[in-house]
Amino acid sequence: MVNGQTQIGKVSSDKTMAGRVLIVEDQVDHRMILAVMLSHLHYQVIEAADGLEGIHKALSEAPDLIIMDLGLPGIDGLETTVRLKQNPKTAHIPVIAHTIWKEEEYKQKAHQVGIVEYLTKPIPSETFKRVLEKFLPQGS
Ligand code: CA
Repeated sequence: MVNGQTQIGKVSSDKTMAGRVLIVEDQVDHRMILAVMLSHLHYQVIEAADGLEGIHKALSEAPDLIIMDLGLPGIDGLETTVRLKQNPKTAHIPVIAHTIWKEEEYKQKAHQVGIVEYLTKPIPSETFKRVLEKFLPQGS
């Protein structure tokens, strides 16, 4: 993956935004769906296709919120979150899991590594909106 950026996330990037959200997601179609929903809600979208790219972008872009897939190539979303939480530069950024892993075991692990909200795919857009508003300041 050269650069996971889709065009959709860039459409209105110079308008006043409600917040900046990093999507860490290896599946292009899932990333696109989230990027579209976020753009419609006036959030600026930053994208990463795996955990290491996610850590890199969290450091370079300083997003307000991270939406983390858990099943990722290389280091998984749990390990990625552990590393984000170990770094003082990224430890404060809320991380929301967005995953197909429905087992209680993963929910508990996610909680242990500091994930603040656990969403399973596919997420209804109303739920998504409500969760975003909980963690991000309202746009003007
Ligand atoms: Ca995945």
